[in-house]
Amino acid sequence: MPKIQILPEEVARKIAAGEVIERPASVVKELIENALDAQASKIEVQIERGGLSLIQVRDDGCGLGPEDLEVCYLPHATSKIRSVSDLMSIKTLGFRGEALASIAAVSRLTIISRPKESLWGAKLEVVFGKLKGLWEAGAPKGTLVRVEDLFVNVPARRAFLKSVRVETARVVEMVKLLALGASQVNFSLLVDGRKHFVYQAAQGRRGLLAILSQLPEKELLEECFDSGLYQIELVISPPAFKFSGTRHIYFLVNGRVVRDRLLMSAFLQGASVAFPKGQYPAAVLALNLPPELVDVNVHPAKWEVRFREEKEVFTLVRRAVEHSLRPKVSIFSRTEEQEEDLPLASSPSLSESSPSFEEAPDLRDTSSAFLGKVSETQAIYRPPSRPIGVLAQKYLLYETPQGLLILDFHAAHERLLYEKIKAAYEAEGLPKQHLLFPQVMTLSAKALERLENHKVILERLGYRFEPAGPQEIRLLSVPSILGEEGPPALLEILEKALASPPGEILKEVFASMACRAAIKAGQEPTLKEAEELLKEIEGQGLFTCPHGRPIFWKIDYHEIEKRLGRKT
Ligand code: ADP
Ligand code: MG
Repeated sequence: MPKIQILPEEVARKIAAGEVIERPASVVKELIENALDAQASKIEVQIERGGLSLIQVRDDGCGLGPEDLEVCYLPHATSKIRSVSDLMSIKTLGFRGEALASIAAVSRLTIISRPKESLWGAKLEVVFGKLKGLWEAGAPKGTLVRVEDLFVNVPARRAFLKSVRVETARVVEMVKLLALGASQVNFSLLVDGRKHFVYQAAQGRRGLLAILSQLPEKELLEECFDSGLYQIELVISPPAFKFSGTRHIYFLVNGRVVRDRLLMSAFLQGASVAFPKGQYPAAVLALNLPPELVDVNVHPAKWEVRFREEKEVFTLVRRAVEHSLRPKVSIFSRTEEQEEDLPLASSPSLSESSPSFEEAPDLRDTSSAFLGKVSETQAIYRPPSRPIGVLAQKYLLYETPQGLLILDFHAAHERLLYEKIKAAYEAEGLPKQHLLFPQVMTLSAKALERLENHKVILERLGYRFEPAGPQEIRLLSVPSILGEEGPPALLEILEKALASPPGEILKEVFASMACRAAIKAGQEPTLKEAEELLKEIEGQGLFTCPHGRPIFWKIDYHEIEKRLGRKT
């Protein structure tokens, strides 16, 4: 049973300050979080008129005794933390001791509660911040919190609200979101007396994502990864099910629903192996880690978190997403499930074998996209597919069991070269081609400065050079993959190093090298090469060019027959 205390001044001052009760949905969030912290297994939410007339949350959790009820609505009253050091490892959703106080100040608040070991419950009433009374009351085990006439005493805040319809929609969304974070709990939501949403714990997170995204549940992929300290549970839609925005990508950190830029950018980088730019999956990614490794005391409404090991988290998330989309998705059809362990635990770090971040500060790559590579499964290649021709010298055509496949040769080639460059860079660096006649290049002051800053990385890419004048360098070697494209590519690489955001620099550099290398290769492929190319693309589960354009387009027989009037 909780034992509420008022936080001492020095702890209260350390808590991310700010108003958390902005609208009915924020009240619903705080009350549901309290019910979850009370270990409820069933939470019933009820609202009327968008939550403006009534918000009620009933739970079957541990309950509050009269001595706790008496103080629970006071500022900084909490049973969840005691000292500043508790802030370093928060295991509950709440910890600020501010929600009930903020709600009580702007509504008529009633709490009826009975701890499971008591025979009697108690009822507390607070009207716009003033205690009205505390009485003994019969009640089922658990807690019922009723919030009426929200913001009636602060008309300015009420005026800030949107229509009843919009506020209702926000509450509905909030309940679903919180259910995602606590999929082991049963939820129900009553809107103006009507059942609006019922979630049974047995449906699981996958079932819930299907409800939220309105995608067929059986199509959603589910994967778990465990590195010891970090666990990732991921439910994600395959590329056939996509959205034009990120609205159905949800993140949970230790059961807390968060909006986090780092997680989103790691996720999107991972998803780019299968989703072209502008297309996004539906997904829920739940990350669990020791509470000491994440700071949740960053945002008053607790939407944001800060990871102590940001790079580690970024890499794990990116690789988990990439892995879940890559090996099991075939261009043609799904074959039997293939199991593979993602070597999360011992991701070989580049730090021993490649330029350290300190040596080349401007090329700092927060993606760590360049840490160890996930070992790939065998190619899922279906022999009956065969190359049947080349269109406009650019597109390879294949007959497949399902229909016609059109492959963009340049994009596919570029993507394969990109993977090759990335892998070589990660291993020992790219093979060099020494120039028989070293080339002298004149560079701008800015380019020279960049060249110096990134010397270690450039050498790893295959470039060796020496000073040859105040603004000149003598190029001694270029990456062999580029040949005569090497010198102009160097200028392009230096441009990329300036124009790209820090986390994207290496990716952009690899992409521009891949593009140059593909241009160098030039000529139209033979049918034999077309067959090899498809095998490689398919085997590595690649779907987009380095810049996110799709590599292929599939037209199935059904579509062909429909268009030609053979079928309706
Ligand atoms: P916090 O959750 O940050 O501690 P709140 O103002 O939300 O602060 O709640 C104050 C305290 O009231 C909590 O610490 C908890 O002890 C108690 N409490 C609130 N809601 C419930 C509930 N539904 N069941 C049991 N205890 C609750
Ligand atoms: Mg709380």
